[in-house]
Amino acid sequence: MLTVETFDTLVQAASAMTPQSRYLGGGTLVMRGVNYGDQSFQRIVRVKDRSLREIRSEGGRIVIGAGATMANVMAASETAFLANVARQVGGPAVRNMATVGGNLFAEHPYGDFTTALLALDATVRLSDGSEQPIESFLSSRSSMRGLVASVSVPRPMGDEFRFRKVSRVKPKGVSVMSIAVWLPRQGGRISQARIAFGAMGATPLRAKSAEQALDGVNLDAQGIERALSVATTGLNPTDDSLASAWYRNEVAPVHLRRVLLGEESR
Ligand SMILES: Cc1cc2nc3c(=O)[nH]c(=O)nc-3n(C[C@H](O)[C@H](O)[C@H](O)COP(=O)(O)OP(=O)(O)OC[C@H]3O[C@@H](n4cnc5c(N)ncnc54)[C@H](O)[C@@H]3O)c2cc1C
Repeated sequence: MLTVETFDTLVQAASAMTPQSRYLGGGTLVMRGVNYGDQSFQRIVRVKDRSLREIRSEGGRIVIGAGATMANVMAASETAFLANVARQVGGPAVRNMATVGGNLFAEHPYGDFTTALLALDATVRLSDGSEQPIESFLSSRSSMRGLVASVSVPRPMGDEFRFRKVSRVKPKGVSVMSIAVWLPRQGGRISQARIAFGAMGATPLRAKSAEQALDGVNLDAQGIERALSVATTGLNPTDDSLASAWYRNEVAPVHLRRVLLGEESR
């Protein structure tokens, strides 16, 4: 039998979690599990606290509550630079429910929003108040204790942040891959770029060799050439019904090139 328990605060919910419990964000994945008869949990834990949906500026960073939906992200002026990412998660019904917190746990090939958070070097805040860089959070999320309260990101300047989702069906298709880049510049040259790929591994992953190859170069066809040649180093795509690992590796540099040169929609 499945039970549902509602708590006033995230902290209370976190202390009530057991291995047989599933926290309910927007429920787009949890309820699919329920409908498909997933027997790995018998208890759903949810929280009433509306402040989990808040999006605000704080000390030069943007804090996004774990319960903020993709529709909330699209509507908030603070997250205007992420609206294009949120808009590409599912269709309107999904975006009205799908939360930022849930996206952090969404399994391959999902996790488009998380890919953007990884490129932006987000910090993940947990229910006990501790904070973790998103990269280490992603590598240990399956064994995480507690719940996610919020994420925070810096506000990128101008066109520094770019995102591209590659899917077979427009506009609602699932990702063959997604690519997010953050391209800070100093004196016109790229400095400390971050590149994240979604659906190119079990979790969104950084393309660190390509990031290093961009350091100090101009953002033009010649400058990015070396980065493209190592675009897939460190990525680990799998075969699935959308694309083979081989195909993903072949097309990744093509799409990265388009993102870097701003050839198509950001
Ligand atoms: C038709 C359809 C289309 C979709 N398209 C896309 C897409 O294009 N791109 C994409 O990235 N995803 C897509 N998804 C997947 C999903 O909707 C999103 O990833 C969404 O952001 C998940 O959030 P949620 O709040 O619905 O998660 P839930 O279903 O509520 O939860 C998912 C998992 O995250 C855990 N969780 C949720 N919140 C927290 C928290 N605060 N702390 C700790 N654990 C938490 C839950 O316990 C659960 O294990 C799609 C899903 C459907 C059904």
